[in-house]
Amino acid sequence: MSNYAKSIIAGDREHVLHPTTNLFEHRENGALVIERGQGIHVYDVQGKEYIEGMAGLWCTSFGFSESELVDAAVEQMRKLPFYHGFGNKAVVPTIELARRLKSMVPFEASKVFFTNSGSEANDTQLKMIWYYNNAVGRPEKKKIIARWGGYHGVTIATACLTGLPAFRGGFDQPLDNILHVSCPHYYRDAEEGESEEEYADRLAEELEQLILREDPDTIAAFIAEPVMAGGGVIPPPRTYFEKIQKILRQYDIITIADEVVCGFGRTGNMFGCETVGMQPDTMTVAKQLSSAYMPIAAVIIPEWMYEGLVEASADRGIFGHGITYGGHPVPAAVALRNLELFEERDMMSRIRDVSPHFQERLRAFADHPMVGNVRGVGLIGAVELVASKEKRLPFEASAGIGQFCDNRCIEHGLIHRFSGNAALFCPPLIITAEEIDEMFKRFGLALDETYKWARETGRF
Ligand code: PMP
Repeated sequence: MSNYAKSIIAGDREHVLHPTTNLFEHRENGALVIERGQGIHVYDVQGKEYIEGMAGLWCTSFGFSESELVDAAVEQMRKLPFYHGFGNKAVVPTIELARRLKSMVPFEASKVFFTNSGSEANDTQLKMIWYYNNAVGRPEKKKIIARWGGYHGVTIATACLTGLPAFRGGFDQPLDNILHVSCPHYYRDAEEGESEEEYADRLAEELEQLILREDPDTIAAFIAEPVMAGGGVIPPPRTYFEKIQKILRQYDIITIADEVVCGFGRTGNMFGCETVGMQPDTMTVAKQLSSAYMPIAAVIIPEWMYEGLVEASADRGIFGHGITYGGHPVPAAVALRNLELFEERDMMSRIRDVSPHFQERLRAFADHPMVGNVRGVGLIGAVELVASKEKRLPFEASAGIGQFCDNRCIEHGLIHRFSGNAALFCPPLIITAEEIDEMFKRFGLALDETYKWARETGRF
């Protein structure tokens, strides 16, 4: 390793506290430091090339070297590097971006509120719904239903929504008005012989029982990712949202679509809710909104909610919610250019052309002796490894299967991610069929080595 690489890695170890990282391991082994990107590839400080099979954090739709987005940022920075929307101010790119977003979403949208991150946007969803329900005179209607396995962020409120142990354990969960229903994981949780439709019936029944137990007049909203991403790429069973939403409507409960990962083409439609038959009242978007070249997220709300907020503000003076960088002109200009490029390059057709190949290559892993389930839609998917195919038996976390396989992938020049025992794939949307082949070739090598090691060490 060069002295340059050594000193950078040592510096990271000495000075940086890493997000969502095993801190013990980081202290022992240091980090993989990425220095530059090109197309779907990134390069570490030693110059080694990797395919970025996760588009970073499910976000760099245009890969790592889209100069149009860089130009949009530079141009806006020269013109106006910062201004805000507090106290009746506005900036031009934010207005244009809001207009464009409204025209894209598959529901009647009225206003767009900008934040920097998906967590802040989902936090805003809760605050707006609480504020709205106070405004319309039903202050007791405040509880929010989320799902085990869902990921909605890490702020205090959104970490309470997030139903994944790693993001909850060790941190307090102070909000007692957040409830959870089951993760809709057909492969893992369906009973012997139960069809997807029957499984969806059972989940809808569970939801209704919870609502009745808690009292429908105390429940404000239900939040869901159309396809669960961080929890293991879990598309819902057939008819799930149709049945869930029938109940939500019956009890006057708002549906929030968390489109932070699924939004902007990922599942083969512009929004994930179109793929899974979900009809949201409000929506959260982030990540691919700007291809992640600049931090920006948004909450998109309908007219009736906006009217409630306006009325409350007439009483209270101001709508007291906002973030210094929310609607920042530079990320807004980048996001706007990103959405224009999406259209100019006909990305939806491109995604629809290439995703059957992605899904076919992904599903080819189903024959592997250690693979229990393969699932996905569009350009997102997962390969779930099991200790026994027949019994659908998961590996114990202590077996270290994911960690071993991950390390082998790194060795072969592939960055992706494990969630539990599921290997996740969510490449940049610009990926070509040849690059998909290469990505899965590298994963296949790592998987075979993991299988060999697991057998040799008695893990399989
Ligand atoms: N919702 C979903 C579905 C996500 O996957 C994420 C982040 N991965 C978030 C919300 C939170 O976004 P952020 O990390 O920008 O706060």
